[in-house]
Amino acid sequence: MLEVIPGDETKKSGDDATFRRYCEENALLPSPEEQGKSCNLMFSQMTIDCEGDAYICCVAPTLPSMRLGKFLELSADEILAKRFVHPFCRGCKYPRHDRTAEEAAWLSCIEPLIEKERADLEHHALDHHKVQGPATGLPLGI
Ligand code: SF4
Repeated sequence: MLEVIPGDETKKSGDDATFRRYCEENALLPSPEEQGKSCNLMFSQMTIDCEGDAYICCVAPTLPSMRLGKFLELSADEILAKRFVHPFCRGCKYPRHDRTAEEAAWLSCIEPLIEKERADLEHHALDHHKVQGPATGLPLGI
């Protein structure tokens, strides 16, 4: 016999405000991915919840700040671009490997998407700064 047990991972991992603050702090760090390193989970794994939302990866909880968007409405290129610029990954200590030729080729094909994601992040951060003032979280629930 199976019993459904409601989960609440915020009790284990922290709430969205905590993760937004973490992302805001990480935004100032150098990105390993921009320095020629790659995270396996970023390039070869997908995390999707029961509602069909794609998330940054299985290392992070399914909180709004970690959400990338509806999986079926995003291409693999768009998902990689969103992950590539996501500030959570900048501070993540998950081991990286040297970027492979295959990963480099994929990234070079999606440069315009990466630039768009970077611009969107900066735009959201500026808007948020105007409305909320500094030292709060980035609006990452894209
Ligand atoms: S959060 Fe860490 S493990 Fe997950 S995709 Fe980003 S860098 Fe990789």
